[in-house]
Amino acid sequence: MPPTVVASIRPLQLLAAALTDGVSTPGLVMEPGSDPHHLSLRPSERLKLQQADIVVWVGPILEQPLQKVIEQLHMPVITAQQAPGVTLLHTGTVTDPHLWLDTRNARSIAAALLQVLQQRDAEHASRYQANMTRLGLQLDALDAEIDQLLQSRRSQPWAVSHQAFGYFAVQYKLQPPFALTDSSNSAPGLQHVRALQQQIASLQVKCLLTEPSENHQQLAAMLDGLVLTIVTADVLGTAITPGADAFAQLLRQVASAVQHCLGGNNE
Ligand SMILES: [Zn+2]
Repeated sequence: MPPTVVASIRPLQLLAAALTDGVSTPGLVMEPGSDPHHLSLRPSERLKLQQADIVVWVGPILEQPLQKVIEQLHMPVITAQQAPGVTLLHTGTVTDPHLWLDTRNARSIAAALLQVLQQRDAEHASRYQANMTRLGLQLDALDAEIDQLLQSRRSQPWAVSHQAFGYFAVQYKLQPPFALTDSSNSAPGLQHVRALQQQIASLQVKCLLTEPSENHQQLAAMLDGLVLTIVTADVLGTAITPGADAFAQLLRQVASAVQHCLGGNNE
């Protein structure tokens, strides 16, 4: 039996699926629809972790409530935030946990997982290697594609409901988006909202990028009178099925939403 990989969140499950394609399908701890910033571990989820052969999670910067359980596990654990080559983005005092939205980080996490997979499952070592090569080529092509897609939009101001796009903005040289909430997804204070409304108005931001889980009515009320296009980006890949191309699909879908948002009324 090949080892079972279990990932804490969907994006890491999709990344793992690119590597285990043709061998196994990675499991997922977090129930679809739950907020990874405010996880509470249910008994069934704890069991999934304990029954895994290899665990992949972002680390305490995101799934803090998993830390205690993960520390007690005896199988190999890939902590993405500590994987060799992963670069973390700091905004103010907060470390942005959405590190999978940088393809360079995604490669580094995949490389760390590849090593463990090959150690644990020598029989499929060459398949894992071939999958890794394929993923690398996919991400190369995707980088070029996204660069092309967004390069004429680099000076466009944009706003996001949740600060999940920092890595993406840095990698593809976009303007840093204005965020209604920080990268830990805590609700913004009233003063912050007022300041944001003013900034959005004065910089003529035309579009707000949001996530499927967010309440559009609440956002519209918060933005009180500002005319903005609201575009949804599924940064958690909730709607994507694990498979060889799933991780690339996640990024392509995010890029397309960002393009839509940055294009705005200027097209
Ligand atoms: Zn988030």
